[in-house]
Amino acid sequence: MTFSELATYLDQLEATSSRNALVRILAEAYKACSVEEIEPITYLIQGRLAPFFEPVEMGLGERLLMSAIATAYGTSKEDVTKTYKQTGDLGLTAMSLGPKTRDDTPSVIEVHQRLWEIAGLSGEGSLKAKLDLFAALLGDLDAASAKHLVRITLGKMRLGIGDPTVLDALSFAKKGDRSLRPVLEAAYNRSSDLGLIAKTLWAQGLEAIEAIKVTVGKPLRSQLAERLPNPEAVIKKLGLVGVQPKYDGFRVQIHKDGGVVNIFSRNLETMTPMFPELVAATVSLPVKSVILDGEAIAYSPESEEYVPFQETTARRRKEGIDEFATRVPLRAFVFDVMFRDGTDLTPLPYEQRFAIVDEMLKGSDTLQTAPLTKTDSVEVLTRELLDNISRGLEGVVAKRLDSPYQAGARNFNWVKLKRNTSGELTDTIDVVLIGYYGGKGKRAEFGAGALLAGVYDSERDEFVSISKLGTGLSDEGWRDLHKQLSRLEVGEKPARVNSLLVPDVWLQPELVVEVLADEITPSPRHTAGMVGDQPGFALRFPRIVSFRSADKKPEDATTVREIREMFQQQHQRAVRD
Ligand code: ATP
Repeated sequence: MTFSELATYLDQLEATSSRNALVRILAEAYKACSVEEIEPITYLIQGRLAPFFEPVEMGLGERLLMSAIATAYGTSKEDVTKTYKQTGDLGLTAMSLGPKTRDDTPSVIEVHQRLWEIAGLSGEGSLKAKLDLFAALLGDLDAASAKHLVRITLGKMRLGIGDPTVLDALSFAKKGDRSLRPVLEAAYNRSSDLGLIAKTLWAQGLEAIEAIKVTVGKPLRSQLAERLPNPEAVIKKLGLVGVQPKYDGFRVQIHKDGGVVNIFSRNLETMTPMFPELVAATVSLPVKSVILDGEAIAYSPESEEYVPFQETTARRRKEGIDEFATRVPLRAFVFDVMFRDGTDLTPLPYEQRFAIVDEMLKGSDTLQTAPLTKTDSVEVLTRELLDNISRGLEGVVAKRLDSPYQAGARNFNWVKLKRNTSGELTDTIDVVLIGYYGGKGKRAEFGAGALLAGVYDSERDEFVSISKLGTGLSDEGWRDLHKQLSRLEVGEKPARVNSLLVPDVWLQPELVVEVLADEITPSPRHTAGMVGDQPGFALRFPRIVSFRSADKKPEDATTVREIREMFQQQHQRAVRD
């Protein structure tokens, strides 16, 4: 496949506003792929050169790209700047200046290799070399291809192709229906690498997909917790449980392979440079290879207190990490182990995995085992919950002692119990902003009135509306938010957004916001959970609590399934009360 042919598919994907059409077009593109092409294409359609967890950066910002466009098309930088001002999009700028057609355009594989080469250059003189190579590549492409190449390079490919859409498309391309999705998804949960899955399916078939193993260096998708309303419900449903404090820190998946340590966030981004003290502590562990799961939390030696999530994540800014590490060093409370010295431990019961963690971490100060209390008593569980809340922690997580580690699953193997500010036992909801209304009066000054928020339908890979959001932010907060929103504005409803309400401005679903609401109510206006003529769900009195985009991708937002469960639990509680 030439890159130009891929660009034609990308144009079609960009033009559609339906999620089914995304799957169909992508499946067509996949059908046209050879074994060698399918892996790079899988990364490129998501605007990447490698899986999400590999921090491959092209290192070419807007200014350099403008120079490259000028060089490639023999125009002046002023011309490029002028066109950019008119189009507001560097991809469209390249398209309008480049030649409409060109013979002998390079293959997808070649373009991927050349981009890879550019990304690999570093050190003195590398900027000039990157620029020259990129200009040469642009010079070999037609205008439509140049548009996508520039967007990929800037990391601004907004086709909105989520991982489940890729899995569905692979299944359609191979089988003509969605039936392969569960097997593909299970392999994806173990490896987080869509390119590997696509290549394995094309080259070796379904059996080889089932054989894709847990591997050090490739993050597993995180196991997540379900909710239950109170300790009684937990003991009734799970029986004997292991109870642990729920730390309000930063989820870390720590991989050690010999002397190499990698640390991944909850949404599988590589975060290694952010955590030098965890890396050092992991190197010293008495194992050759290991995968650990835990929660990193900043600890202030002066006050002897744990510092909450927001401050822990302040380290994301690259500068000052060393200063942070001295002032508020991190600890990680490790609660699981998935792999050790060549053996996949995920099938073992939790009790055994926990014993392995406990033994392995003896003597480490930075990596501590999250304490575990075994109980089948409602009183003990209630006491643990209240104790932890009074110590300033979020609550507890109760775990089934006989459960395997189920990568990517949110099920009753783990149940979280938290307390909200009003003293009721409920949980916050993570919504994705999908649009906003102009707003009247004071709010209009800041550019946004009410926000339109959605949750994630993981089955359909769609964002469905659940609430308007209008309160909880100061004027300053609104102003900051507006800056973030303007980056995400799009002219048309994105293909993966499904909403009956039409906001004044649609947003690319990206920004995750944590909200607290009084109640979930049925609503004919919102599409979250809407099936046939059954109404959807809405949030009553939602308030913004925090911005979660630091550690959550839009697909990590609360799902429709969770909303339905929370609605049912709330109903049970109302009946009981
Ligand atoms: P939240 O918004 O409450 O952080 P979440 O959507 O990130 O929730 P959940 O599945 O709801 O994830 O809760 C599990 C999260 O709780 C984990 O991702 C982890 O970051 C955190 N956590 C803290 N302490 C523990 C623990 N002892 N065991 C498991 N997870 C823990």
